[in-house]
Order: sequence, then C-alpha cells, then structure tokens
Amino acid sequence: MVLKFYNSLTLKKEEFISINKDKVTLYTCGPTVYNYPHIGNYRCFVFADILKRALSYSGYNVDHIMNITDIDDKTIRDSIKEGKSLLDFTQFYTDEFFKDRDMLSILPPRIYTKATDYVLEMLQITEKLIENGNAYTTEDGSAYFDIKKDKEYGKLSHFKLSDLKDNASGRLKKDEYEKENAQDFALWKAWDENDGDVFWIPSDILGHETKLAKGRPGWHIECSAMSIATLGEQIDIHTGGIDNMFPHHENEIAQSEGATGKEFVKYWLHCEHLMVDGKKMAKSAGNFYTLRDLIEKNIDPIAFRYWLYTGHYKTKVNFTLESVEGAQTSLDRLYDRYEKLGKNFGSINIEYKNKFLEFIQDDLNTPRALALVWVLLNNESINNADKKSTLQDFDKVLGFGLADISRNKKKQKEMLKNIPEEVLNIASFRETARENKDYAQSDKLRDQILKLGYEIKDTESGTEFIKI
Ligand code: AMP
Ligand code: ZN
Repeated sequence: MVLKFYNSLTLKKEEFISINKDKVTLYTCGPTVYNYPHIGNYRCFVFADILKRALSYSGYNVDHIMNITDIDDKTIRDSIKEGKSLLDFTQFYTDEFFKDRDMLSILPPRIYTKATDYVLEMLQITEKLIENGNAYTTEDGSAYFDIKKDKEYGKLSHFKLSDLKDNASGRLKKDEYEKENAQDFALWKAWDENDGDVFWIPSDILGHETKLAKGRPGWHIECSAMSIATLGEQIDIHTGGIDNMFPHHENEIAQSEGATGKEFVKYWLHCEHLMVDGKKMAKSAGNFYTLRDLIEKNIDPIAFRYWLYTGHYKTKVNFTLESVEGAQTSLDRLYDRYEKLGKNFGSINIEYKNKFLEFIQDDLNTPRALALVWVLLNNESINNADKKSTLQDFDKVLGFGLADISRNKKKQKEMLKNIPEEVLNIASFRETARENKDYAQSDKLRDQILKLGYEIKDTESGTEFIKI
C-alpha cells in the first residue's frame, strides 16, 4: 500500500506514512456559516471526502474532524445585520450545509466541531502562548501572536519574513489579509461595539484571573484548538482550499507548534480553486453558484461530483454550466450502463482493482480513475456480473451511489423540498418493506411518518410527501 500525496509543506509528492500504523488523523477546515456555501467551497469538501474514502479503501482507519466556523468577523457582522442571535443565524446555515453534504454524498466526519464549543481550549492555548513568550496582550485585553518570535514563520507559504517589504510592522485585528501584510495576528479580540452581544468572559471560562478581556477568539486559533482537542497535538493530514494556506494555516502552525513544541501536521493538502471566467469563485466577487442553483438547472449534485473528478484537485478548473451539463449526461449514461449489467454480482476483477488503486493512491488521480470506469464498462472480455462487482467496489471511493441508483435519485428530489431526514429514512425502510411485500410493516412505517407530520402517496414516479 503506497499512497502518495503532494505536501504543500515540502512542495513534493511524498509517500504517505501515518504516525500510527493503520490509523490516520485528518482535519478539514470546514465552512464559515454566514451564507449558503458555493460550489467552489464544495470542490474542497468533495476533495476531502475522496481523500478520506481513498484512505479507507487503502485499509486505513480514518479519524476525521471538520470544524464549523461559527465565530468570525463575517458571522458576527451578518448576524447583527439580520437582527438574529449568532447561534440562530449560524445554525440555519449549518443545517443548509448538512443538506448539501447529503446531496453530494459527502461522508460525515466523526465530529463537526463548532468553534463556539471550544472557547475554553482556545483561551488555554492563548494563555500558554503568552506564558511561552510567543504572544502578548495589549492594553485593551486582546492577545496577539508575535510572529517575529517564530523562526519558522512562513514555512508553509514559503516566504521569509525578512523578504517581505513591510513585514511585522504592526498588528492585525481582522481575520483575513494578504501575505504582504504579514503582521502580528489576533488570538483574542477584546470586545468592541461591532461585536454586539457576541462575547465571552475569559476569567469565568478559565476559572482564574487573566489579562484577557471580555471578547472573542480570532479565527486562526479556532482550528488549532479544535484539532488538538479532538485529534491530539500531532496529526497526519490537514486539508483546506489553497486560499487557506496563508494566513490561516500558516497561523495555525505558528500557534499550535508554539504551544506544544511539536510538529503540528505532517501532510498539508490544498485543493486548487474553482474559477469562473479566470477569477476565483467567491461570494465577495458575486460570481458564485450554490448547489441549489445547479439543481434548479436540473443538475444532480452527484453530476457536479462527477464533473469535479474530471480535473485533478491540484489544478484550477473553470466552471461553465455547459461542462457540468456534460457531466450530467455522462453520469446518466453511467447509471444506464450500470443498470443494464443486470441483477447478478460476480467477483471483483483484480487487474482493474489494482489499476484503480494505483490511480487513486497517486495523489488522488481522479481523471484516470474515472476513465478506467469507462474502459472497464467497454471491456468485452469481462462478464457483466464481474463488471458490476468491480464498479461497486470502485464506488466506495467515487461515491456515485451505484448500489441504489433509483432510490438515490428519489432521495435527491425529496431533499429539495426540505423534507426532514428522519422522514426520508423511514420512507426508505418503508420502500424496502413494500419491495418485500411486507405490507403490515409498510403501514406501520406510514403511520410513523404521519406522526412526524407527513402524508405519503405512492405514485408512478415515486413517493410523494405532503405536509399535513
Ligand atoms: P469558507 O466557508 O469561506 O471558510 O471556505 C470553505 C473552504 O472553501 C475553504 O477551504 C476555502 O479555501 C475553500 N474555497 C473557497 N473558495 C473556493 C473556490 N473558489 N474554489 C475552491 N475552494 C474554495
Ligand atoms: Zn481552519
């Protein structure tokens, strides 16, 4: 089993060797929940998903954590604008993210860590950094990381502080900034009126006196604290979009290594951007599509997933509706060809499995893995039953839902109508009961759905849900 990944830290494709045999610890920077994520964000989350699936497929037990950024400059700004509490505001977008995740067949991590649940850990790291002399407090009770104290600062983004024109000339309170502005960054931000009623009282949380004033954490400390709290001081892999490399991941390294004295992450994997007309897809640029926008254009989220595989995660890809429509046609053809293979399963073709492994383990070469699916389908010397078993095996990594194409499609449609997952799950058990002609069980499940406020109708095109 030789997996190779391009490590942003060493700028090399390296053989992957896990810290603990058979187990991989993986941390993914998750969404900032102040709006619907756009499909550029989903490029990154699908990339993390296929990485996780490839590791599991290669025999590793993967312990995956993804955070939900529910405190930062943007969530606070927009919750105040909408007159909602930070919790209510961010919960709404977190729930929307979960719906999208299911439609994209992204496997959930062990925990979605919310920043608001780890403020104690953030304060503890901040205090440790102050104690160590890596950070300092200011008069208003904020704390900043002193980048000049960190001899390795810049090692991930590959710059030297001394090479920057205007380096380390001051402090930055805001979360996002460019490399040219590298300055001491905020670990703890003393409250000001822009924060409204969003604040924590450090002495209450820590249970002792502290120089840190009423306020809130900076964005970067959040991921350090959540990663260390859930996965330990050293982890195997950390993922995120390429724009997270600086300042976010650079600062995560500085904070974590400054506090623990240990190498924080062995492999840093970054996904390139989804572009539109040569520009990064971004909310601020207004050039973005959400998953809902695609669905309204009759594009199945799984077809978007298919389309993502046609480009390697380390290359920029240009989004056009036509190209994703093309992926929809290919996915439909794939489903059709798969269904025509018949009902019987055979055995996994080892030659193809080895090829598939070789592509996937070579820094997740999805374009070649996808091409192999078609080579297999078109190979006349392999019987249908073996093709079916081999494709279902590949699907553990690809996540197209081949095991249940029709149910998968129906589920997608229902989700669009915001039907609760619990109802959809019971409906899926009811479907199985009906297929088995177990009508007593099917009626029982129908009653359970009724109690949850939905009536169901069986129509020719599938089950319909009516809210009562
Ligand atoms: P955010 O919700 O802004 O914190 O972003 C979530 C993830 O999406 C981060 O890992 C970003 O680096 C990534 N991201 C943002 N825009 C794009 C894009 N256009 N293409 C690929 N990834 C992106
Ligand atoms: Zn992060």
